[in-house]
Amino acid sequence: MAVERTLGVIKPDALEKGVIGEILKRAEDANLKMIACKMAKLDKKRAEGFYAVHKGKSFFDSLVTFMTSGPVLIFTLEGENAIKTWRGVMGATNPEEAADGTIRKDFGTNVERNAVHGSDAPETAKFEVSYFFENHELVSYEWM
Ligand code: ADP
Ligand code: MG
Repeated sequence: MAVERTLGVIKPDALEKGVIGEILKRAEDANLKMIACKMAKLDKKRAEGFYAVHKGKSFFDSLVTFMTSGPVLIFTLEGENAIKTWRGVMGATNPEEAADGTIRKDFGTNVERNAVHGSDAPETAKFEVSYFFENHELVSYEWM
């Protein structure tokens, strides 16, 4: 396995529920290290650019409205197999289909308001990390 980076977002619904700590604990429990983190309130253009791959889909406009409806917490995680590991901790897109013990099962509301984002492949992770963070904002841990 290789050390990877992935882009995570805690979405406005989860911030409204006040579960930042519980969600980040699950990343730590999965041995994923946070190497960058910031709060943001996305505007329409920033959210549309982030989700450009979904442009034209039926849920696109509603998704952008949701993602700009409140603050988000954006972070980069690093660790062995980080992309798949974080997706596994998140659970399936639709909270109703997500496995027990996953973030989306426990904190998601519906298929749109599903608490968290995670990159789905190395290329998208690279794009998404650089979409929100400059290289110098990504820290390295001296003891790793
Ligand atoms: P994932 O976040 O699991 O990678 P997608 O990339 O397919 O899922 O979709 C991006 C986001 O768009 C989802 O996390 C969710 O917020 C929203 N979304 C996906 N599918 C639907 C849908 N059928 N209806 C409403 N919103 C959706
Ligand atoms: Mg996706």
